[in-house]
Amino acid sequence: MQVTERFLHYVSYDTQSDEDSTDSPSTAKQKVLGAALAEELTAIGLQNAHMDEKGYVYGWLPATPGCEGVPCMGLIAHMDTSPSASGANVKPRIVRYEGETIVLDPETGVSLDPKEFESLSRYIGKDLIVTDGKTLLGADDKAGVAEIVSAVEHLALHPEIPHGRIAVGFTPDEEVGRGSDGFDVEGFGAAVAYTVDGGELGELNYENFDASKGVVTVHGVNIHPGSAKNKMKNALLIAHSFVGQLPAEETPAHTEGYEGFYHLGYAAGDETTAELHFILRDFTREGLEQREETLRTIAARLNDQWGEGTVEVTITEQYANMREKIEPHMYLILKARAAMEACGITPEESPIRGGTDGARLSFRGLPCPNLCTGGANFHGVHEYIPVFALEKMVEVLVRLVTVETHE
Ligand SMILES: [Zn+2]
Repeated sequence: MQVTERFLHYVSYDTQSDEDSTDSPSTAKQKVLGAALAEELTAIGLQNAHMDEKGYVYGWLPATPGCEGVPCMGLIAHMDTSPSASGANVKPRIVRYEGETIVLDPETGVSLDPKEFESLSRYIGKDLIVTDGKTLLGADDKAGVAEIVSAVEHLALHPEIPHGRIAVGFTPDEEVGRGSDGFDVEGFGAAVAYTVDGGELGELNYENFDASKGVVTVHGVNIHPGSAKNKMKNALLIAHSFVGQLPAEETPAHTEGYEGFYHLGYAAGDETTAELHFILRDFTREGLEQREETLRTIAARLNDQWGEGTVEVTITEQYANMREKIEPHMYLILKARAAMEACGITPEESPIRGGTDGARLSFRGLPCPNLCTGGANFHGVHEYIPVFALEKMVEVLVRLVTVETHE
């Protein structure tokens, strides 16, 4: 089966995950695709291909004769789609792109405008898979799944290509931050792995945010406003003052690249109590610790002013930059660069301004950088992927696992 056909088939499954669910997987429908994938991997010839009760799919392609000693390499992608946009009744359409604005939904006017989405200009003359403007596409990450399945199918059909043992893993619930929770690192048995979950062709990531969250609770004192002079401590105003003491330019809307930020994502309360939820992000541990310290310093300052115990800060670590776990295995990055270049793709290394399952797996002992899928505009109705990008990534993955024989 061709990778495009395979991709179009996978996006017909609704696999949206749900952050409010405590089940594993968070939505049972992810297992429908999981079961189909386990069956497909078996049909291709992978060993012991199966889905476990939490919806994780695993399978192994044995090494070709003579390559049994090559360390097992893992290829990982996620099956779920983002809760930010519907993934039900996805109606993908292939359009030959000629540089125009692509109207996705004539009724609502939802369009892909090259003025808004500049990278479209790279794809003039190419076939793009787009949505009908009502759902996301699901290239994140069914493109990764389709590329991996097509790559192992190619290897199974071409036993003359030498490779070590390959472990394939498909996870549920990546989009709700729990994709690595139930991942059986030991059973997977790979020495190293790649997630195939990035954006446009060339993207290669092995750095991500150091992340924590801070919850600020303000305890005020409420008195009838008519007789409150020198008595009321309005928790909302104290919370407001807290926000005002943060550096105004260090927010997601003012930062990019390696710059970190404070992000206020939730605020609620009344005169008596108020709560602020922040996420803190940086690319170094020291940078993140400084941000945590800033929250504590502001709290201390307000407590001096309003009385001890008025403002409380609770910090929780979320995830860490995988860079330190990848650095001892830099050959993973060299290999990925070489595989892309051999396929005519220029690698573009960039830090991920977020977390990845690969980062979490790296800290659990499976070094795991991230490769592109070729898709763009993830998590919304503007998502698309060029057909040739799907095909290129199959080639890249085959290259990546091929053992150089120098004969
Ligand atoms: Zn993804």
